Amino acid sequence: MLTFFHPHELSTHIHTLKKEGKRIGFFPTMGALHVGHLSLLEACKLTCDISVCSIFVNPTQFTNPDDLANYPRSEKTDAAALEMAGCDILFIPDKQEIYALEKPMSVTFDSLIQGFEGASRPGHFEGVARIVRLLFECVQPDEAFFGLKDYQQCLVIEELVKQLDLGIILHFIPTKREADGLAMSSRNQRLNVLQRQAAPAIYQALLWAKSHVGHYPPAELEKACIAQIEKEPALRVDYFKLADAHTLEPLVSQEKTSSIIALTAVFAGEIRLIDNLLLK
Ligand code: AMP
Repeated sequence: MLTFFHPHELSTHIHTLKKEGKRIGFFPTMGALHVGHLSLLEACKLTCDISVCSIFVNPTQFTNPDDLANYPRSEKTDAAALEMAGCDILFIPDKQEIYALEKPMSVTFDSLIQGFEGASRPGHFEGVARIVRLLFECVQPDEAFFGLKDYQQCLVIEELVKQLDLGIILHFIPTKREADGLAMSSRNQRLNVLQRQAAPAIYQALLWAKSHVGHYPPAELEKACIAQIEKEPALRVDYFKLADAHTLEPLVSQEKTSSIIALTAVFAGEIRLIDNLLLK
């Protein structure tokens, strides 16, 4: 595995690979890698000749300075895991160098970023779009891989690629879970024993919503799921909402909606966990 720290060195290398006709696959991460991240690599290797992973804890997408300061960092272990799993290129960009490449961008996400993570973390998706666009510029991928765990992010990236006409094929990969259903996340490492024991209640509530969708009006279903999660004293729900899976419009009645998603964010102490499940 080759590791690059400087954007221009990576771009030069990618240029050579592309001239050789290699298909470049890319998945951006913030490190502290787990099996979920490695499933993106696995998918990437199926359709691309060269797999590129980036590790960059992007300051512009954090709205809470403590969350940024406490975000787990483990580059050496991450690099070893990627190498073992057969990743070809690791890109760990220098913050100043990558942001120096930034040019103005006129992309609007409108209603897509108004709710859920966009509402709870103002500016988050603007930060995500800025860095993903810069990473795309450095890596020049033919295909890119993102996890459905960050469902709203997948829709934002889809819109980014469409509006900038980047022509990148996007793949959205199912969420990898622990045996008890907790969605894998780098933030899980920070949970204490009690919080970790309580956390599977999030997925339980999502499963309950899936088996009861259509039986109750959306608002009642949401209320019941919030109550289920908050039965655990260690958990506090930020939001639990049903939405149209294509537009993320909040669901008032479900009659006309072909595809429904439940999205949730839950605090375990200071640690914020997100999850979602397609209900129909
Ligand atoms: P992060 O390092 O949290 O920014 O995540 C990097 C990429 O991995 C994003 O596309 C995430 O959606 C994806 N990802 C994170 N957790 C999981 C998971 N449990 N299963 C599948 N993909 C994931």
